[in-house]
Amino acid sequence: MRACIFLAPPAAGKGTYSNYLIKKYGYQQFSTGDILRKRAENDKELERVLASGKFVDDETIIEILSDELQKLSDDTPFILDGVPRTLHQAQILSQMLEGKDYQVIYLDIEEETLKKRVVGRRICPKCHRSYNVLFDGFRPKVENICDDCGIALETRKDDNLESFQIRLDEFMKNTYPLKEYYDNLGKLYVLDTNLSQEESLHELGEILK
Ligand SMILES: [Zn+2]
Repeated sequence: MRACIFLAPPAAGKGTYSNYLIKKYGYQQFSTGDILRKRAENDKELERVLASGKFVDDETIIEILSDELQKLSDDTPFILDGVPRTLHQAQILSQMLEGKDYQVIYLDIEEETLKKRVVGRRICPKCHRSYNVLFDGFRPKVENICDDCGIALETRKDDNLESFQIRLDEFMKNTYPLKEYYDNLGKLYVLDTNLSQEESLHELGEILK
């Protein structure tokens, strides 16, 4: 079993990097964000937490993690997206991944760029491909329509500046310290995403070789 973990501030473009790994290298995606949003459809309290931009509690995340990891086959490399977000989650995950081959990719990016990404982001509700109307090369071919599915794109409920600032503060406080944690384990790779998308994707491919 091979895994790739993205450690990234909110809106750092994880979706783009994940899709690249899925399409080019056959990775399976496991996004806690998507799973949580699905659960929130039947859970008002969870919906409220997600809309506020605050972190979901560790217990819920760990429960989802162990559920999902069991469903994965040993042959398929997979991406952990949106987890771990706290040192506690990281420590439990380290036990779950004991003896497995995995790498942690830190997406390094400037805060101003992140804000533009949040405001301009549009998501396909069917294939989850993400677009951005504020950046060249990230817009859909037809305005507000998914290139792959031909259906209307959506804005996420939590994609607004106030919610973003809370998520960024939470990230800096809880998740940023994991950079050091994984660096000490010899698992950390820093990917400079201020480069062009093509260069960043190429670099990611090189890291995961
Ligand atoms: Zn689509």
